[in-house]
Amino acid sequence: MALPKRTFDVVVVGAGGAGMRAALTLSEAGLKVAVLSKVFPTRSHTVAAQGGIAASLGNVNEDNWHWHMYDTVKGSDYLGDQDAIEYMCRAAPEVVYELEHFGMPFDRLDSGKIYQRPFGGHMQDYGKNPVPRACAAADRTGHALLHTLYQQNVKANTNFFVEWMALDLIRDEDGEVLGVVAMEIETSEVMILQARATLFATGGAGRIFQASTNAYINTGDGLGMAARAGIPLEDMEFFQFHPTGVYGSGVLITEGVRGEGGFLVNKDGERFMPRYAPNAKDLASRDVVSRAMATEIKEGRGCGPHGDHVMLKLDHLGDEVIRHRLPGIRDIALKFAHVDPAKAPIPVVPTAHYMMGGIPTNYHGQVVAPHGTGPEDVVQGFYAVGECACVSVHGANRLGCNSLLDLIVFGRAAARQIIEDLKNNPNPKPLPADAADKPLARLARLENQKNGERVADVGDAMRKTMQAHCGVFRFPDLLAEGVSKIREVAERARNTEIKDKSKVFNTARVEALELDNLIEVAQATMTAAAARKESRGAHAREDFPERDDKNWLKHSLYYSEGYRLDYKPVRLKPLTVESFPLKPRVY
Ligand SMILES: Cc1cc2nc3c(=O)[nH]c(=O)nc-3n(C[C@H](O)[C@H](O)[C@H](O)COP(=O)(O)OP(=O)(O)OC[C@H]3O[C@@H](n4cnc5c(N)ncnc54)[C@H](O)[C@@H]3O)c2cc1C
Repeated sequence: MALPKRTFDVVVVGAGGAGMRAALTLSEAGLKVAVLSKVFPTRSHTVAAQGGIAASLGNVNEDNWHWHMYDTVKGSDYLGDQDAIEYMCRAAPEVVYELEHFGMPFDRLDSGKIYQRPFGGHMQDYGKNPVPRACAAADRTGHALLHTLYQQNVKANTNFFVEWMALDLIRDEDGEVLGVVAMEIETSEVMILQARATLFATGGAGRIFQASTNAYINTGDGLGMAARAGIPLEDMEFFQFHPTGVYGSGVLITEGVRGEGGFLVNKDGERFMPRYAPNAKDLASRDVVSRAMATEIKEGRGCGPHGDHVMLKLDHLGDEVIRHRLPGIRDIALKFAHVDPAKAPIPVVPTAHYMMGGIPTNYHGQVVAPHGTGPEDVVQGFYAVGECACVSVHGANRLGCNSLLDLIVFGRAAARQIIEDLKNNPNPKPLPADAADKPLARLARLENQKNGERVADVGDAMRKTMQAHCGVFRFPDLLAEGVSKIREVAERARNTEIKDKSKVFNTARVEALELDNLIEVAQATMTAAAARKESRGAHAREDFPERDDKNWLKHSLYYSEGYRLDYKPVRLKPLTVESFPLKPRVY
């Protein structure tokens, strides 16, 4: 079928912080750039980031990039690639000042410098004492960041395709990526977007879990598209549970609350974190705090009639600090927990939050598929940045505020790499004749399916399976059962039916297409988790409670075809400094 086609120099899928930072540099270089987004750009999940962006500016206390690098390596439980971590931590102050000069409205200290607050795992002097490193705009940092980047992109003449959904990658027989097939959500019109470079910045996939801090649009589309195109997904077993989701709704309460002096208590009113992390206490790394909370609940010290949550106490900070530094959190507490945080504690539970794994890349944003194609296994024409990518700077556990930093550092780096690569590649390659066959077949199946299941029911089964079988603590029998259960759910997803075929908002069709992507991510996560027989960062196995560097200091690679797992070494060598040697991780 002949589809309409448009040709660009670069197609960017995703208008969150990562996609927009990349698009800005590309458009400013005079390239013709298309940015696709399922929602209006400034509604991307980056807008919800609260706490801040990490950079060792040292505006409040002494700080430097090498300490930041140490914290990030340690936070990653030594699974992060140290070349990429050095690159990110060194670039951090520069990219934050760049944002400031783009007009981002950071909070200020009395001196006029950018305000910084402490965040979990960010320490002075190689892990000694918490240091304020999170550059913040109240508790709405992502909002300020995303709007600033959107305005700069409008100025730079970036072409936005708003409410367009990319369906699949176009790859030729050499493995080179030549663009995407996409659908306009309102009309269901399908179009080919041809490009010399395709950049994925599609964000996370928190919606594979039942309780999640993520937006409904975070459905792992980029990972689904990559997996279907034969590209492996890296380190998918590592999913971060944020300690403080509001009990019942999952809405996030930023770690910045603990950075400002809030702390967690159990049903006896005991501040329990010092028992688990004597030094960093409530500002230990997220995996450590989430496990401590789960243990308190498991051992009968949880709060409420079911003993199934703990309390976040911040009333001692006073009404004025709360209203000034944490106004959004005050709103969330009032709306979702029905408490005024200046008077009563907020009920919280660990909630699925961030995907450490993703599409494998190097620190230039180039997608790297081992045993793949071309020089150094770089997939020609394909780039990925932000939460959908695995660089890997977060390894087995991400530190707070390092994601916004990752978006900006690698968004810029990928754009610079694309500009270089396109100099050697001035003309678009011809598209294969079957470029759109696969997504069109998926759409046709949905259109014609009779007596199929409801998408929502299959989605629920997936989310429940992930929550019950692949949570904060992981058990061997539950994981093994989870692998077969999630495959059954994947089978069911092949027989879903859109019950409401009206084109009004077209949500049914979009949800069905998103489910295909969620299922790819869920299968990758469950399969890789069942296989990794150690505990590291966010992956905590009941039967293997220790980190096992001898056998497991390696990245996993999951191939959708045949549910195959492979592994590759961690890059332990930084760019210019010495490696940080492996140590037990205590806070
Ligand atoms: C509630 C919350 C608070 C957070 N707070 C912080 C914080 O304080 N500090 C920090 O460092 N990190 C924080 N994080 C993490 C961080 O915000 C995210 O990891 C980051 O914003 C992801 O950015 P991104 O650009 O990769 O993707 P997103 O911002 O999620 O954007 C994804 C984009 O891709 C588009 N898209 C997806 N699929 C398709 C498709 N098929 N076709 C077309 N477009 C598509 C979407 O429309 C969207 O534009 C927080 C996360 C959450 C959920």
